[in-house]
Amino acid sequence: MRRLLFIAVLTVALAGCAHDTGTITQISTIDALLAGDYDGSEKTSQLAEYGDFGIGTFDRLEGEMIVLDGRVYQAKADGRIYTPESITTPFASVSFFKPEITISIGHPVTFEQLEKLVDEKVPDMNVFCAVKAEGTFKTMRVRSVPAQSKPYPPLAEVVKTQPVFEYQNITGTIVGYRLPTFVKGINVGGYHLHFIDSSKKYGGHILGFEMETGKVQTDTERKLTLILPERGLGDIDLSKDRSGELQKVEK
Ligand code: ZN
Repeated sequence: MRRLLFIAVLTVALAGCAHDTGTITQISTIDALLAGDYDGSEKTSQLAEYGDFGIGTFDRLEGEMIVLDGRVYQAKADGRIYTPESITTPFASVSFFKPEITISIGHPVTFEQLEKLVDEKVPDMNVFCAVKAEGTFKTMRVRSVPAQSKPYPPLAEVVKTQPVFEYQNITGTIVGYRLPTFVKGINVGGYHLHFIDSSKKYGGHILGFEMETGKVQTDTERKLTLILPERGLGDIDLSKDRSGELQKVEK
């Protein structure tokens, strides 16, 4: 009896253990995407092996990707969500989401205020942090991008005419990451969040919101796996600093 009890206690202790060996797996680099490398290099069906949660885009830059509970959702330029069966991605980041910290939202918070709340709870800015927020949003402003044709324009050009959608009193889930500044060139430093509504009809890349009630959960990871396209990135100049372009693209 005593041994049984000991095993039970040990299991609970391990389950509640803060050590995390989680990995963010990402396809290609943000600078390759900024440079206009929009040809899909990895099947989205393959992403399930690397995670059940994440964000990205699709072949030819056709919309914003949201991976939630193991399903890949595509928010196209009409603002609507599609569930593609067979499609590829030129850029995506995924991980297995295991919540470590839960923050209850009892009063309205903006994007910036939510960032501050997460920063307070996860003060180590040099760790990879998955962020999930479920709840009701007074406002939610998202964008998506249409499929591009060759020769592909750089991403900073594409977003100049991006369709923007604003929803009011919508429930849904924010999916994304807060990454350290040192990922510069490889991924997006700081917060990069996408949204999908609870009816799985609307979504996109988040530009702003006001969250009314709900909860925010975080999951920190210490590993980052980078998968470069099999075709290589040899045709793209990745030596230049594209942080100015990234600023324009994210906002
Ligand atoms: Zn995005």
